[in-house]
Amino acid sequence: YQRMVLASRPSGEVQASDFRLETADVPAIADGQILIRNHYLSLDPYMRGRMSDAKSYAEPQPLDATMIGGTVGQVVESKHPKFAAGDFVAGMFGWSEIGVSDGALLRKLDTTHIPLSAYLGPVGMPGMTAWFGFNQIMQAKAGETVVVSAASGAVGSVVGQLAKLRGCRAVGIAGGKDKCDYVVNELGFDACIDYKAGNLEGDLAAATPDGVDAIFENVGGAVFDAALARTNAFARVALCGMIAGYNGEDVPIRNARVLLTNRLTVRGFIVSEHMELWPQGLTELGGLVATGKLKYRESIADGLAAAPEAFMGLLKGKNFGKQLVKLI
Ligand code: NDP
Repeated sequence: YQRMVLASRPSGEVQASDFRLETADVPAIADGQILIRNHYLSLDPYMRGRMSDAKSYAEPQPLDATMIGGTVGQVVESKHPKFAAGDFVAGMFGWSEIGVSDGALLRKLDTTHIPLSAYLGPVGMPGMTAWFGFNQIMQAKAGETVVVSAASGAVGSVVGQLAKLRGCRAVGIAGGKDKCDYVVNELGFDACIDYKAGNLEGDLAAATPDGVDAIFENVGGAVFDAALARTNAFARVALCGMIAGYNGEDVPIRNARVLLTNRLTVRGFIVSEHMELWPQGLTELGGLVATGKLKYRESIADGLAAAPEAFMGLLKGKNFGKQLVKLI
């Protein structure tokens, strides 16, 4: 089987040569173990942080080891009483066609009404991130205005739709006309600003006539500043990501003064530190996807060899929706 390992730590932009594709023998499993064939690998921005050995909230990914990553797949062979061949499961088996598990942290999936790949998107970690930030931090009420950056992406797309379901005005920020058209016409946001069009602050002001009551921040830098400039008193900021700085760029907050003058609450969070809420959140998100109330879009790369290119694209906004790698 094939697996992708971290060959070197990037400085600045990730290069294809930072990865190495390896072939290994499928291991024999012991009593209590499960062998899984992964069908999809999730590519996520956090992986950029793990490739670096700078101090962060998580330990760096070791060199020459399989790249970390969430996967969904099917049990091939089981010597574990709770899993049987054919079961669909989600796990953290990394950039690999095969996973071996002892059952801990392995989640059985019901694909009757929810497609397998959605468990890596709206009904998985990204969806849960949106759900947590929206419900626990933004706490937006009907009639309030929320701004979401990286709005067409895996996390942002869910935030805006949850806001619409609650009766909020949802305004997205995304890169390019196609993404903005999708955010408004398919996802149902009230407006979406193309930050690449050159009039971010003016366009955002026009789209938020009543100001902004809550921000879901995924990007940082100029995008975050534009949203901060529109905040109302006591607005809440769910600080989820600062992808504009993941290659080491500075992401200064130039509008810091409004943190004080508008008495903002800013809370950063890491979704994996709130596992106790995942069952509730994933049940709600699963219900919304199964009934068609929560839409999503995927960019799917074909095969593990295509994963580095797709990952580099994700960090440059080449993905359109949840970035996945199809492994089978
Ligand atoms: P997305 O599907 O949104 O893909 C990333 C998007 O970010 C790109 O499509 C692009 O959209 C935008 N982007 C990339 N580079 C830049 C840049 N330099 N400047 C501006 N925008 C950029 O990814 P996710 O939904 O998986 O993740 C979104 C954010 O949420 C990330 O910051 C991620 O780190 C964070 N996150 C945080 C978690 C937590 O627990 N705190 C958990 C999961 C995700 P566009 O073309 O519109 O610019």
